[in-house]
Amino acid sequence: MIPFRTHLPNNFDLPRRIHRLAELAYNLWWTWQPEAQRLFSRLDSALWERVGHNPVRLLREAERACLNEAALDTAYLARYDRVLSAFDTYLTRSDTWAARAHPELTRRPIAYFSMEYGLHETLPIYSGGLGVLSGDHLKEASDLGLPLVGVGLLYAEGYFTQRISEDGWQSAHNNPLNFEELPLLPILNEDGQPVIIEVDFPDRRVALRIWEVRVGRVPLYLLDSNVEANSPADRQLTARLYWSDLDLRISQEMLLGIGGVRALRALGHDPAAWHMNEGHSAFLTLERTRELVAEGVPFDEAVARVRAASIFTTHTPVPAGNDEFPLWLVDKHLAAFWPQLGLTRDRFVDLARNQQPWGETFSMGVLALRLSEGRNAVSELHGRVARRMWHFLWPERAEEDVPITHVTNGVHTATWLARRLRVLLAHYLGEDWLEHLDDPELWDRVRLIPPEELWTVHQHQKRKLVFYLRERARQQWLHEGVHPVQVIASGALLDPYALTIGFARRFATYKRADLILSDVERLLAIINRPNLPVQVIFAGKAHPADEPGKQLIQHVYRIVKRAETGGRLVFLQDYDMNLARYLVQGVDVWLNTPRRPNEASGTSGMKAALNGVLNFSILDGWWREAYNGHNGWAIGDDRDPDPESVEEQDRADALSLYETLENEIIPLYYDRDAHDLPLKWVERVKESMRTVAPHFSTRRMLKEYIERLYLPAAASEVTAVQEG
Ligand SMILES: *Cc1c(COP(=O)(O)O)cnc(C)c1O
Repeated sequence: MIPFRTHLPNNFDLPRRIHRLAELAYNLWWTWQPEAQRLFSRLDSALWERVGHNPVRLLREAERACLNEAALDTAYLARYDRVLSAFDTYLTRSDTWAARAHPELTRRPIAYFSMEYGLHETLPIYSGGLGVLSGDHLKEASDLGLPLVGVGLLYAEGYFTQRISEDGWQSAHNNPLNFEELPLLPILNEDGQPVIIEVDFPDRRVALRIWEVRVGRVPLYLLDSNVEANSPADRQLTARLYWSDLDLRISQEMLLGIGGVRALRALGHDPAAWHMNEGHSAFLTLERTRELVAEGVPFDEAVARVRAASIFTTHTPVPAGNDEFPLWLVDKHLAAFWPQLGLTRDRFVDLARNQQPWGETFSMGVLALRLSEGRNAVSELHGRVARRMWHFLWPERAEEDVPITHVTNGVHTATWLARRLRVLLAHYLGEDWLEHLDDPELWDRVRLIPPEELWTVHQHQKRKLVFYLRERARQQWLHEGVHPVQVIASGALLDPYALTIGFARRFATYKRADLILSDVERLLAIINRPNLPVQVIFAGKAHPADEPGKQLIQHVYRIVKRAETGGRLVFLQDYDMNLARYLVQGVDVWLNTPRRPNEASGTSGMKAALNGVLNFSILDGWWREAYNGHNGWAIGDDRDPDPESVEEQDRADALSLYETLENEIIPLYYDRDAHDLPLKWVERVKESMRTVAPHFSTRRMLKEYIERLYLPAAASEVTAVQEG
């Protein structure tokens, strides 16, 4: 272990009385603490918006006069003291859930590896649901007091920002991140030099430096190849998330898997269990095997020990979604590796061999499944699909006995819940409700909330969304040189009182963003009906190399721009966690129309339900488990469609969608009492919050990971060591 330290940059010029704001800015704990957010926004609310909710920048750029004023304002100081005291308590408390329920887990950490992390919009190292899930997982581990360390890559250019041309074509813009303005702490050795670790390639070594992001009590280590020792090409390896070039991709995955293990070792971590969130990090199993073989452990025993302490979560129900590499590429990059395991090339490839119609491949999914004892899908239906998909690895077993279980995803409640709703819930569920948020009985008390109070909060959230979107449209008109129709397409004509449907997620074709547009005339009639207006807000990015995804955006955008929509169809560019928060907190209905069974879980609908927004979705992924007939609406039925008749499935789902929208959703929304309250709607909202919030949270999810997967993995290693 290298002696190392991280320290806060000391170039903040803050008044002494409030100097700990810098500490707060460098720990993402503030991202799920509305009170802490207010400490920043109160300093200069216009600047807070301008810097995109980035406290590091805010503290750097705020006028000294503003800071001085705050340091003399007794109300501000009272809030400051309250927040800092809560922060200190949070970081140091020893009576956490993990310490009480599983003290044996608190001695050594769980290592958690993921290619992307969605922690906050200011740190754009995520592309979608997988990243947001990883971010939420770390936050929950911190809340539960589970010692967990995250490992990922630091993408120097972040994920792209999206612009939509007048004709609906997506362009991708990469913006170099300024690390000085982000909550990134360089890991330095005793001499103040960056700690460097190396990953071996046959012809060279790639050096990596390590940055730490503090997520409450949990450290996230991000690896960065942009160091002087590397060639210009290697310095670019961690520039972007998800290269489509396979050579870059396998190299990145080696940096994550192999480099990640080395980084943890360099920092003195000795994890009790290793969790691979998706197969991108599966090389970590090979590096750990190599370590044991180097210590003299025979290969088969080394593999057995590595497997026993590994957990693999699969997220991809389609075979093509799993990373696979042609064998020549594996030779090119890993030829120096298999001798170190004492293996021939053939036996090495056997660890991950997969047969495709076009030839043999090295499959990261196969590698992860073969070298993990804990394996899980992310919803019940996805578990079934995964067992069928990977049955060939266990040919001697019946399909239902394929050893892949499921842990349904969840969302980090405090991150996604609107502040006003949090206040309302504290009033009716009890001040300490966040401590028990996975207790279904606690949520029964939602029934006690007077409907008008819940409705008032919801209307506030909706106005906030509409005003925010109009302001964005105005800024686009002012600064981006767009055509006027694009200002309308961005939501300039949105009505804060119309029934509002949200559809926002990655634009992958299986998600069928255009299902609601499949009969445009019918939709136009629906949205323009006098006295019963409906509006639909779309948002989402397509991967820059995904041509069908980009064409889908264009198809949607061309319809959105039509004059007959009256500005009631909207496409928002540059979907990110900030926009996601506004949308899941502010619309009335959350629409999800994947082609079943392609949505492994989905999580945005959980965020919506938590905020009193009703789901209207295909019975796929998580919604199939959550839907009870009274807490939202289903599209289609709970049956596996014939994969041969995709068009028929699309047609049937579209019909079901229009019928439910016309006959149930719109009438219910506009059914008002004498005070203009939609009582039956609010009843449904309560049923949705009550049933979804406790179960589809990372609180329930992480406890399940701990008890069903982490504990056996951690115990196995102890046993192996005792026996060995
Ligand atoms: C939650 C979230 C997602 C996941 O959305 P799904 O509908 O589950 O695919 C994707 N992107 C962002 C920015 C999110 O916040």
